[in-house]
Amino acid sequence: METQNNNKNRNKNKMPRLNLTWIYIAIAIALGYLFFAGGDMQTAGTASKSVTYTVFKQYVEQGFANKIVANKDEGTVRMYVRPEHVRDVFQQGIEQTGKQPFVQAEFPSADKLDEFISSQQDLGNFKGELSYKRSNDTFMQVFWNLFPLLFIIAVWIFIMRRMGSGGGGMGGIFNVGRSRAQLVEKGTENESKVTFKDVAGQASAKQEVQEIVEFLKNPKKFTDLGGKIPKGALLVGPPGTGKTLLAKAVAGEADVPFFSMSGSDFVEMFVGVGASRVRDLFRQAKEKAPCIIFIDEIDAVGRARSRTAMMGGNDERESTLNQLLTEMDGFGTNSGVIIMAATNRADILDKALLRAGRFDRQIHVDLPDLNERKAVFKVHLRPIKVDSSLDVDLLARQTPGFSGADIANVCNEAALIAARHGKQAVTKEDFLAAVDRIVGGLEKKTKVMTEEEKRTIALHEAGHATISWNLQYANPLIKVTIVPRGRALGAAWYLPEERQITTREQMLDEMCATLGGRAAEELFTGHISSGAMNDLERVTKQAYGMIAYMGMSDALPNLCYYDNSEYQWQRPYSEATAELIDKEVKRMVNEQYERAKQLLMEKRDGHKALADLLVEREVIYAEDVEKIFGKRPWVSRTEELLSASGSEDEDTNEQQPTPPEDAESSTL
Ligand code: ADP
Ligand code: ZN
Repeated sequence: METQNNNKNRNKNKMPRLNLTWIYIAIAIALGYLFFAGGDMQTAGTASKSVTYTVFKQYVEQGFANKIVANKDEGTVRMYVRPEHVRDVFQQGIEQTGKQPFVQAEFPSADKLDEFISSQQDLGNFKGELSYKRSNDTFMQVFWNLFPLLFIIAVWIFIMRRMGSGGGGMGGIFNVGRSRAQLVEKGTENESKVTFKDVAGQASAKQEVQEIVEFLKNPKKFTDLGGKIPKGALLVGPPGTGKTLLAKAVAGEADVPFFSMSGSDFVEMFVGVGASRVRDLFRQAKEKAPCIIFIDEIDAVGRARSRTAMMGGNDERESTLNQLLTEMDGFGTNSGVIIMAATNRADILDKALLRAGRFDRQIHVDLPDLNERKAVFKVHLRPIKVDSSLDVDLLARQTPGFSGADIANVCNEAALIAARHGKQAVTKEDFLAAVDRIVGGLEKKTKVMTEEEKRTIALHEAGHATISWNLQYANPLIKVTIVPRGRALGAAWYLPEERQITTREQMLDEMCATLGGRAAEELFTGHISSGAMNDLERVTKQAYGMIAYMGMSDALPNLCYYDNSEYQWQRPYSEATAELIDKEVKRMVNEQYERAKQLLMEKRDGHKALADLLVEREVIYAEDVEKIFGKRPWVSRTEELLSASGSEDEDTNEQQPTPPEDAESSTL
């Protein structure tokens, strides 16, 4: 639907532009013609020559003149030559000279010319007509004087137009300061039909915006009691969680127009444009009030203004932000315009934006949890022809960490996969394949690998699997594969626990499991390889996070050096602390690496069996690992939650992939 709206807007804006373009082309052609034709269209293509007055007189006396045109303003006279004498004058036939060749001369005075011509008429040398012409060329003269200027202006407009249209399609110099907001309004083609029904989960966010709907629908109820209607609400949450959808649903529920714009649309290369777009947007909105303005990615304009004048660079953004603040203060609380903005980081926004009377409400829109995912699936499965055996519970379980947009994508991808295989309905396998694909990219079975490389990758992945299986807090394993996918050569997939807080033990266990790959390589191949780079990067980041931000090391307990300012010129700690942090990070990573190696040595037989199985089968599942190491003695929290929610269909044998190791990013 989004694209349709766009198209429509574009077309609307294209029409006048197209006309202008045609006008330009017409002018250019006319100019070109005039230019080459020397300004006289009638005589284009015919011969002419300038002669002295004496020669002119001779020609007339000889009876060559057909017609004489005198221009007294210019002091010139034209004598059109009679066809039979063309050869005498031009030494060429009429075929070469054209129908009306003429000679032109300057005459000394009008009286003399009149006298001469009447004498010739009396003598019978000139029988044709005589006419006088005023110089009507003034227009042309002015035109030719202005021509270079006009030409330059035309070129300039053309270039500006090009630049303006680069960004959003409908810029142009004349409306560069216009807002590019997309309007969704009732009764127009891009009417929004989104309501709260289309937003699955997000119960608390929905409840909060419900209030806004009430305001829009019945402002009197609140103002009568002396309350002020809020001006803005900020939706905070990761991308794809349905912030835009929620704002649209508010507009849909309240049945008011909806202006949607992205923060980055305000920012343009010309200074002052952003501010004027903000002004324009609010002007439009006030006309349509009550309505909702939705600004996506507000951080593009709303980042904290830099205090250092030195940076200077972003005056444009600051003036845009200032204008936004002014507008928000400017319109009365009762004007009925409510601004909703979305960001995934509220902490980098300018404090002024979050002040009371502006975006004073913050609504958190989080990634959906298990039950919410189920609900989102149900919304997006509506239009899809699914196989009757499909189990939505299973899908929800297989997609931890997915956003609403990811789930919408899974559903779509599954339908495509099913269609590609010529199926009548979309089955569970299609969905699981879609999940795999979205998480890991396409399988690359064609990637050429030597036996030895394969063996190394198998040892590496088996290392992760062995350790995570044998540590209490590591995430439960689901699937290990050595089929390259996307850029990864192999992957171990875990079921991340959906927990709200993570303890130090859990983090350390995870770190140990992540290091298990490299440890296994070192222990069992004797070499270390580049394949572990991702693992190491994650481990290093996590260790820094734990030590510098979460106060989790003994040497630096309870200290958080997190700083959310945009430019970090100075570390908020001393050089000595920096060294200490580095030392602690190294110590922590080394400790976990040693722990991983030790554990691998203890379980070396199991690890070897796992690696062999991997080389043979390329993909192994939790049950295979269970056969080797035995059942894990710990019940994972997710399983606990699931059995609590009473879903019978455990389906553990079917356990299929879920996010690979990377999907469970640390809680940082
Ligand atoms: P955001 O603005 O947070 O980045 P969007 O609102 O643009 O995310 O969401 C993108 C798409 O994802 C929506 O069009 C919708 O199809 C799907 N989606 C996201 N969250 C939900 C949800 N809670 N319920 C249903 N669909 C959702
Ligand atoms: Zn690894």
